[in-house]
Amino acid sequence: MADPLKSERTIIENCAIATVDANDTEYASGHLVVNGNRIESLGPGPAPEGLENVARRIDGTGQLLTPGLINTHHHFYQWLTRGLATDANLFDWLVALYPIWARIDEEMVHAAARGSLGMMARGGVTTAADHHYVFPRGGGDLLGAEVRAAAELGVRFTAARGSMDRGESDGGLPPDFAVESLDGALAETERAIDKYHDASFGSMLHIAVAPCSPFSVSTELMRQGAELARRKGVRLHTHGSETAEEEKFCHEMFGMGPTDYFESTGWLGEDVWMAHCVHMTDSDIEAFGRTRTGVAHCPSSNARLGAGIARVPDMLAAGVPVGLGVDGTASNESGELHTELRNALLVNRLGPHKESALDVRRALRLGTYGGAQVLGRAPETGSLEAGKLADAVLWKLDGIGHSTIADPVAALVLGAAAPVTLSLVNGKPVVADGRLLGADEDEIARGARDQARRLARIAADAA
Ligand SMILES: [Zn+2]
Repeated sequence: MADPLKSERTIIENCAIATVDANDTEYASGHLVVNGNRIESLGPGPAPEGLENVARRIDGTGQLLTPGLINTHHHFYQWLTRGLATDANLFDWLVALYPIWARIDEEMVHAAARGSLGMMARGGVTTAADHHYVFPRGGGDLLGAEVRAAAELGVRFTAARGSMDRGESDGGLPPDFAVESLDGALAETERAIDKYHDASFGSMLHIAVAPCSPFSVSTELMRQGAELARRKGVRLHTHGSETAEEEKFCHEMFGMGPTDYFESTGWLGEDVWMAHCVHMTDSDIEAFGRTRTGVAHCPSSNARLGAGIARVPDMLAAGVPVGLGVDGTASNESGELHTELRNALLVNRLGPHKESALDVRRALRLGTYGGAQVLGRAPETGSLEAGKLADAVLWKLDGIGHSTIADPVAALVLGAAAPVTLSLVNGKPVVADGRLLGADEDEIARGARDQARRLARIAADAA
């Protein structure tokens, strides 16, 4: 019987393993031993005999074990506004949706976060970042609602506390009542860091400073946001170089391109990651590589909004850390990271690099270790190595969808979304046999639908 005073072990064996370590070590049949919240050992063949305090022993025959997937860019609240403005480009899409988003409240954001996180978790995501930047007056504690949802579902979380202070009357896109003042945004961001940010090894919750984008935020908020993040030792996140229109806006407004503007406001550095980075010149990519500024590559959203193809192979060659992001589900209704693994590979092969662009192992690396790098978690998670956190996913590859695909990593990346047999976060199961353990999926679906209808009603009444 397990000794309750000792940390429990979980053993997974007889499965293929893709560790995504520095050497891309793989085992055709191997084992992984978890002790408490850490990986104790892994290797080829069965687990060593005689291990004590084994709470779970899992036979992984016909399955692939990988590090947990890491999502580096999202907007959970958009779970309530999926399937709208499906033929619009970014600016038109924003103009259509801001009046609706400006009516969100705490109850809606909680339901949306449960939907977003639940969908990702059941698809093998173990660490998720969310960029929340819409804080309507009187909306309640929206960031707290997200933090609560992540804890309920057991997902490791980076809450990027966003902000906007350039409303319609200042030449921005969002309605004035959905933006904050410069001082108010900075004070609330600092309050969120003080209240929630846990910098310890294995932390389940980070806060990042995350003004929305150059065209919805004042230069002063960019500059002072960077100062705040560095004073507090937290990371910085924003949208960068997403569209050709944004590039034009930066030239007209600031007399320089987005990357030069970011550099001038203190926004390049190894503590920064930016979503998209589609429209980058050679010198922009060189600047990102030199400063180790990270990128959240969101291929499905970029395709949905017709933004273009980010130059991921060039970024990787320049030493830029690159992770994957689903982006908000108003521009990527799937909300699963599997589609990004697949689309990162496919979309980049449609770009200038063709067949040499990305392979299945590099796609898996973007979705795991690359994500850990851009979120500042690479020493803790993102690969299966002894001593790292036990964030791991067992994928079923012997079913109808995958049993004839020769290479398990190709099956995972290029095949249909594989069922998750087991997902561990911090050594704890959060998904078993394809079902969430921390919440009822039907209840999440009903709750999100009810809140989506409530939001549509309130927005229609206000229009
Ligand atoms: Zn985004």
